[in-house]
Amino acid sequence: MTRRIVYLAGGVGGSKLAVGLASLLSPDELTIVVNTGDDEEFHGLHVSPDVDTVMYALAGLTNEVSGWGVTGDTFSGLSMLERLGAPTWFNLGDKDLATHIRRTQLLRQGWSLSKVTNELSQQLGIKHRIVPMSDDSVRTVIHTPEGPLSFQDYFVRRRCEPSAAAIDFTGADTAQPSAGFSEALQEATAVIYGPSNPIVSIGPILALPGLRERLQAFSGPRIAVSPIVGGEAVRGPAAKMLRELGEEPGVGAIARRLAGLCDILVIDETDRDAASEVERWGMKAVAEQTIMTNIEDRISLAGRVLELAS
Ligand code: GDP
Repeated sequence: MTRRIVYLAGGVGGSKLAVGLASLLSPDELTIVVNTGDDEEFHGLHVSPDVDTVMYALAGLTNEVSGWGVTGDTFSGLSMLERLGAPTWFNLGDKDLATHIRRTQLLRQGWSLSKVTNELSQQLGIKHRIVPMSDDSVRTVIHTPEGPLSFQDYFVRRRCEPSAAAIDFTGADTAQPSAGFSEALQEATAVIYGPSNPIVSIGPILALPGLRERLQAFSGPRIAVSPIVGGEAVRGPAAKMLRELGEEPGVGAIARRLAGLCDILVIDETDRDAASEVERWGMKAVAEQTIMTNIEDRISLAGRVLELAS
């Protein structure tokens, strides 16, 4: 029987395992579903940061130093925008700008974000399906002592400094999962949650109407990889946000958030002793090397996850 894997991802962490999975699975075996809660408009252009991070990773274009953007990109366009008086706190390289120009152009012609993502992926030579979680607008809002901040405002302009008191996914209650997501889930033999921020990357996907129920009722194996290693995020604000929301950052917090939606949580081998904190949420813990610094790590972790999913 053909495997049909639905893989749920955010940006940087999610894209690393996506590359591993894409090296081991054929295009018809894998659908990568990406968070769009971080999407925002800059300079009149629709930017989908997580979709782009996954797309650039699969196209072999990722800037491996920063984890986002296109390798070797230059920033002349942004400098000129600054000279022209535009706010330029959100870094957009010249090649990256081309992606957003093309995306925005196609969206203005009435294409859905799914159709645009498929077109951009094909043009970049990507064989595997990347689908946005929804074609409807869902926007992550971080409520802070400075007031509500859009995700990019919080993450990039304010460098995650304000404390997060609450998180909202504006639009999520009426947004529909994209057709590509919904159909892939219908046919899926396994679901994999990437090592992505549980609050602002996996959170918006789970906030879509009916999604939790579908994942709860899913009859195949559901495997997740923890983005928290040794009580800290490998990068980004996941641990800080969990603390601010009153949760102890650890593999237990990841398991708690996926309770009823996941059968096996892959934790890092350094967290082996915390397996019982995972298992109290009704899932098995499996300890592996989960830090992905190079392509070999990505393929090896993906291989292990696929073994667990079979
Ligand atoms: P973002 O939208 O770009 O923040 O991307 P994600 O939500 O996909 O990724 C952020 C999460 O990925 C963070 O919580 C990191 O801890 C996690 N992460 C990044 N690299 C790795 C890695 O190599 N291994 C694991 N296990 N987690 C990682």
